Amino acid sequence: MNGTDAIANVTRRTEGRTAGELNVAAGTALAEMLRTTLGPNGRDKMLVGDGTVVLTNDGASIVDRMDIESPAAKLVADVARAQSGELGDGSTSAIVLAGALLDEAESLLDDGFHPTTVVEGYHEAARRVHETLDAVALPSDGDDPLRNVVATAITGRWDDERTAFLADLAVRAYRAARDDGDVHLENVTIHGVAGGETTDSELLDGLVVDIDASSTSLSEVPTPVPRRLRDARVAVVDDQLTIQSPDAVSRYSLESVDDLRRAQEHESAEYRRYAETLDAHDVNVLFCQKSVDDRLRALLAREGIIVFERTRQDEVHKLERATGARAVMRLDALDEEAVGHADEVERVDLGGGSFVVVRDASSTQVSVLLRAGTAHVVDETERIVTDAIALLETFDDRSGLVPGGGATEVALASDLRDYGRGVAGREALAVESFADALETIPVALARNAGLDPIDTLLELRRRHAEGEGRVGIDGDAGDLVDVVDRGVVEPTRLKERVVANATDAAALVLRIDGVIETAGSAGGDGHDHDHDHDHGHAGGLQSDPGGYPWAIGH
Ligand code: ADP
Ligand code: MG
Repeated sequence: MNGTDAIANVTRRTEGRTAGELNVAAGTALAEMLRTTLGPNGRDKMLVGDGTVVLTNDGASIVDRMDIESPAAKLVADVARAQSGELGDGSTSAIVLAGALLDEAESLLDDGFHPTTVVEGYHEAARRVHETLDAVALPSDGDDPLRNVVATAITGRWDDERTAFLADLAVRAYRAARDDGDVHLENVTIHGVAGGETTDSELLDGLVVDIDASSTSLSEVPTPVPRRLRDARVAVVDDQLTIQSPDAVSRYSLESVDDLRRAQEHESAEYRRYAETLDAHDVNVLFCQKSVDDRLRALLAREGIIVFERTRQDEVHKLERATGARAVMRLDALDEEAVGHADEVERVDLGGGSFVVVRDASSTQVSVLLRAGTAHVVDETERIVTDAIALLETFDDRSGLVPGGGATEVALASDLRDYGRGVAGREALAVESFADALETIPVALARNAGLDPIDTLLELRRRHAEGEGRVGIDGDAGDLVDVVDRGVVEPTRLKERVVANATDAAALVLRIDGVIETAGSAGGDGHDHDHDHDHGHAGGLQSDPGGYPWAIGH
């Protein structure tokens, strides 16, 4: 084998125009696939793999689970992840727009444009869009903008009644997490429970602990433990409750029956002291971060104290916020101030699982308990509500709303066409192509709503030209309406990021002029396709160690 053959064996190369075409085609194919999921009438994709089935119309969730082979399509898919990670919404739009930008670029390249010219024109257009968006933005008054933002973001999954219900739930959860302008999303916990109606979902002041899924457990004791306690006095111990000082035992040499008896007596005395301390403060619910000795548990149960053990560290903090308790390292350190209060501590069985609900009216911790008929729908609901709350934080960061339903894209496209006329050189045409690409959003919304896409686009352009800047597609009626009147509005910042992320992705793909397959390129892409919620979120919605954002119960 000569040297050249050896190189050919480890690499396959595609270069120049061919590489460009293949990349563009891969990017547009991905966008094409997602177009039908866009908007309130978007259809779901059913993602099947490794024994799991996920139904979703969320762009980020779809690309997360797809086996994407083309490196260029992967670049575009990353847009969805970036978009969703930043803002929790807009991932489908970003991919559809990126695909449209690539599609438009292809025609320009066919006409002999250099990719760099196209990229520069696109960046110029994106800059202009950034500036224009503020001009398009609506005054943030009128009826509850937060609710409208959420209702638009969670579009396409439920009927109006349930959409309104969940939007209200998400807004209330978000408001509960907001304190003097600071948002503490860690104060909101979301639990999905299969079984029941969506409208059975609720927002609780306090904490819900999933006994089955969390490490927290309620140990078996011979004495029956009450299922519900009102006006509970809650102690939280940040350590284990076994014998207080292990040295105490080892001091005895335990050589005789006598020594053993003395050791046991010491233990019993310690445990009685624990019970007395709890008793002195009228504590009837004890959460312990580590384990509690069997004998102590039995003793406390006889005293009527419910003991939960192995409560996770993050749950400890949540309990502190829910009850006002202050976790103590040792029970000896328990004082009146450290004891928390709960209006009610209740063990409930929901959807086949057991939960502890710790409610208190003055809790700064809130829990969203989401219900839906099946596990699939619950998962999707959990994901959507989580994203919606993340989006609200963005909205508050920089207030400002733009009309949804494709109206803003039509307005931006029209502005860009005017603007393009003033741009010198060939880039002007790329700016114009950018305008055409923006209009694929209203076109896709129209098509998904069963409208004729061309007629609708022409009608939208005409009415916008006549000054009706808020006319867009009404997802429900399949008609053109003043979308703002219908409450179809989106955060300005969301639109801005969709355009910026899509432009970046298209530019990345267009700049590639050669694809070199390296020896190690065969096989998977390293993405975990089974993982739910594995895109990160803006604003501190970090995954817990189990990989699920929010959940305390995983
Ligand atoms: P994304 O992943 O981009 O958020 P969606 O499927 O959520 O994709 O669709 C978002 C698009 O749907 C936006 O352009 C938004 O304005 C539009 N939209 C949302 N609700 C409605 C509605 N009720 N009527 C018309 N368009 C809507
Ligand atoms: Mg959305």
